[in-house]
Amino acid sequence: SSAQIGVTGLAVMGRNLARNFARNGFTVAVHNRTAAKARALVDEFGDEGEFVYTETAKDFVAALERPRRLVVMVKAGEPTDAVIKEFAPLLEPGDMIVDGGNAHFADTRRRERELRELGIHFVGTGVSGGEEGALNGPSIMPGGSAESYAALGPMLEKISAKAADGSPCTAHIGPDGAGHFVKMVHNGIEYADMQLIAEAYQLLREVAGYSPAEIADIFRTWNRGRLDSYLIEITAEVLAHVDAATGKPFVDVVADRAEQKGTGRWTVQIALDLGVPVSGIAEAVFARSVSGHTELRAASRDLAGPVAEPLSKEAAAAFADRVEQALYASKIVSYTQGFHEIAAGSAEYGWDIDLGAVASIWRGGCIIRAAFLDRIRAAYDARADLPSLLADEGFAREIGAAQDDWRAVLVAATQQGVPAPGFAAALAYYDALRAERLPAALTQGQRDYFGAHTYRRTDREGSFHTLWGGDRSEVEA
Ligand code: NDP
Repeated sequence: SSAQIGVTGLAVMGRNLARNFARNGFTVAVHNRTAAKARALVDEFGDEGEFVYTETAKDFVAALERPRRLVVMVKAGEPTDAVIKEFAPLLEPGDMIVDGGNAHFADTRRRERELRELGIHFVGTGVSGGEEGALNGPSIMPGGSAESYAALGPMLEKISAKAADGSPCTAHIGPDGAGHFVKMVHNGIEYADMQLIAEAYQLLREVAGYSPAEIADIFRTWNRGRLDSYLIEITAEVLAHVDAATGKPFVDVVADRAEQKGTGRWTVQIALDLGVPVSGIAEAVFARSVSGHTELRAASRDLAGPVAEPLSKEAAAAFADRVEQALYASKIVSYTQGFHEIAAGSAEYGWDIDLGAVASIWRGGCIIRAAFLDRIRAAYDARADLPSLLADEGFAREIGAAQDDWRAVLVAATQQGVPAPGFAAALAYYDALRAERLPAALTQGQRDYFGAHTYRRTDREGSFHTLWGGDRSEVEA
């Protein structure tokens, strides 16, 4: 038993994570259901560090020093349960199973509870950064017991990405499902970021009349400012890419149907359960869904639309600046909604999640890494009980400065018939929060009318009902 850590499940993620541990000086036991993959890993990358090839589950467990640290990187869902079932009987109290797959946090809570009975620490861990991140430094979001973090944290800190200030992009998120919950919301925010960028692209193309190559340059310029982020950077790369077979812009030869694996949808489903308005994230999930409904789109192609007026060259340049403002303002709203969901989940499940720490570990390694996250971290560092990111003075000032342009972009989108559901949902959220009065008062009146659901008054305490079917006098309910 000489390995400090073991990785089972050696597809792209597990294999790169194992190499990352080895490159950082840890002795890594490797195991895969199909043993040939473990063999191949050692054959191919054995010179990168110390690997211990193991063939059976028993060998694998035996290769690990105690307390054992066993990382599971298999397909999320049933395979994870199958692997736990296989390994748990071989483990001893104090050992740790780290599930780095994209598990649903409710599954993680169940698994944690079941394994706790056996004295085994189950560490549901979000890992972001894809294949490349797993190898060179991902953002890591471990849940589970504080005790398990004490044993694992230093190793995770070593293999994780580092933010610009050198701090590791990992921290103990909170008990049981907290890590996977935060990873879920990370992915929801990722969906929203991608959707907003896609809308910006579409507007620059259809309203301003720019070509994909010109838009790539615009994104490159934006990437030098406050929108500096991995997603903006790769957007420019994708837009500048030309299809070798046809000579056309790559983006014009790709089928316009966006797929999804489910974490964005989970973010919205859980938000509905928690009563958290994540309208921007929801629109991003729905936009992918709309794109995939080719039959609906084909049946709707002849629906009437506005006559579009192309912008002049100077107007196009001014419009591009406005789109940057709209994108930035909408991004603030997406993150506001996402962090609200994390705060709500934390309160619901008693996780006590440090929102500033979450922003901090998303600064590097993960798909949504961005200069912007430093601002969020600073906002929560300044005030840990910040009720909303929009309550932060800095963000409030910036979104206020952007709002005229944001509105102008949506006017143009509407007039020209270009869908911008992410920008629109974000602005509606902003305006709803700002509003002195919402039409919810009317909604309450309707509910009381048809269902005697009662309402509260602005001027005194208590619940009331109006006798709508009678003399319309008010009674205290
Ligand atoms: P896959 O999700 O494709 O999973 C393949 C691995 O799971 C293989 O090692 C396979 O073994 C193993 N496996 C499948 N079923 C079983 C089973 N019943 N028993 C034992 N082992 C099984 O691999 P990825 O590397 O793409 O992802 C691993 C995990 O990381 C997933 O949960 C994924 O959601 C998550 N993730 C992936 C990211 C990515 O960018 N790909 C990013 C972040 C997280 P075998 O070789 O024998 O078939």
